[in-house]
Amino acid sequence: MTFNFDDRLLVAAENAERKAQSVFEKIETTCRITSEKVLSAFIENRVGDMHLKGTTGYGYGDDGRDKLDEVFAQAFGAEDALVRHGFVNGTHAISTALFGVLRPGDLMLSVTGRPYDTLEQVIFGETGGSLKEFGVRYEQVDLLPDGKPDLAAISEKAKNAKMVYIQRSRGYSLRPSLCIATIAEIVQAVRKVNADAIITVDNCYGEFVEEKEPVAAGADLMAGSLIKNPGGGICSTGGYIAGRKDLVELCAYRLTTVGTGKETGCTLSQNREMFMGFFNAPQAVANALKASVFAAAFFEGLGFNALPSYDEPRTDIICSIKLGTPERLIAFCEGIQAASPVDSSAMPEPWDMPGYGCKVIMAAGCFTMGSSIELSADAPLREPYAVWLQGGTSYHAARLGIINAAQRMLDKGLLTL
Ligand SMILES: *Cc1c(COP(=O)(O)O)cnc(C)c1O
Repeated sequence: MTFNFDDRLLVAAENAERKAQSVFEKIETTCRITSEKVLSAFIENRVGDMHLKGTTGYGYGDDGRDKLDEVFAQAFGAEDALVRHGFVNGTHAISTALFGVLRPGDLMLSVTGRPYDTLEQVIFGETGGSLKEFGVRYEQVDLLPDGKPDLAAISEKAKNAKMVYIQRSRGYSLRPSLCIATIAEIVQAVRKVNADAIITVDNCYGEFVEEKEPVAAGADLMAGSLIKNPGGGICSTGGYIAGRKDLVELCAYRLTTVGTGKETGCTLSQNREMFMGFFNAPQAVANALKASVFAAAFFEGLGFNALPSYDEPRTDIICSIKLGTPERLIAFCEGIQAASPVDSSAMPEPWDMPGYGCKVIMAAGCFTMGSSIELSADAPLREPYAVWLQGGTSYHAARLGIINAAQRMLDKGLLTL
């Protein structure tokens, strides 16, 4: 047998699953709603077999590309979208949105504290053509100690901001992620003092976790990665921007050229998997969410702290578990890797990853390299030695991986039962 788990871990897993039953039911309810939105967008926009084929060269008149933008926009509740395999990652999509709409002298105000690690160079790097070098000013409002947005400070500072920036998911921090209702509160507070502020959301890991997306709750723009939620575990690469039509156009000007914008950019052979991935995304996200809830319940049962806890409301697919020591962190990642469908015999090791300030360990035995809608675990090697676990397009396979992470810790004498 491939998996030979300690009986005590199997009992803990069964207990965790029993506790999580009612949370699983809520996840299914959301999935039913988001699946209907996506299917309706395919039908109402009359997606046809012809749209699954790609173009080469300039990509003029690429109906599949235009149709994909319309499907994303409708399902997300946005006016327009820019969905491209040419976005190399989520950071690129977000960076394109920032450079697309900000101009020298403008103020960008982050209201969720420091942005995600890879965006630091983009926004306030000293060289390399950062926003700062182009004369875009940056200020931030930190979250309150309980992780809630500081609405009073936001109302004050947003008066002069061209852009108000919100990061929905928490990245490598231990703050809670921002649910759509909280994002809507921020939008309201900002609109009261500055009706024209462009409210932009880093939506990475959030797509389809709740019934509505940030743009449907009043934000102007949002962006994310296609090797996370909206790619459904099928897209090989890419990213998207969605929101107000005029702003999406500016983003397209930045991605391609001023003037040609959305009308250029061939899709090669990517359309089919981008459509298929988006169609699968609500289901993939539901499986990943169930894996996240199971992991929290299971590791809480073993005596660790999980954030969010198994029954706390979720707005992204991530579960972080405080493991307390680098040894446990590494063992956890080894256990996930060894239970992956691809590269199960590889050993993850901490390394200096571009864009991050300290060594990072990553376990990802995925069909798409670096995909994090597939089961994956990663962590910066720093206090409090928490692991960030996400993904799992198949709940049952993810469950095995999560139990294997505990088994690996047990085998190395790092877990007391
Ligand atoms: C993943 C992520 C990004 C973008 O990361 P890429 O690795 O460039 O796709 C940005 N913000 C948050 C919060 C993320 O989780």
